[in-house]
Amino acid sequence: MGAGQKAVVDAATCTGCGICVDVCPHQALELVDGIAKLTKPELCDGSGECADACPVQAITLK
Ligand code: SF4
Repeated sequence: MGAGQKAVVDAATCTGCGICVDVCPHQALELVDGIAKLTKPELCDGSGECADACPVQAITLK
């Protein structure tokens, strides 16, 4: 986790639970066709709340 990093969702692992969408402080994530997607990457500051909250470790910061 650090400056300039963005949330990257592994679509094959994501279950679409929506927890990351709820915990994102910047509303950068949305569910698209049942999979989390960083639809507003310009809002992502790489703080990683989503990655910490994801129950299946589908989000990494890159
Ligand atoms: S918390 Fe994880 S499994 Fe749930 S929607 Fe987000 S990426 Fe997918």
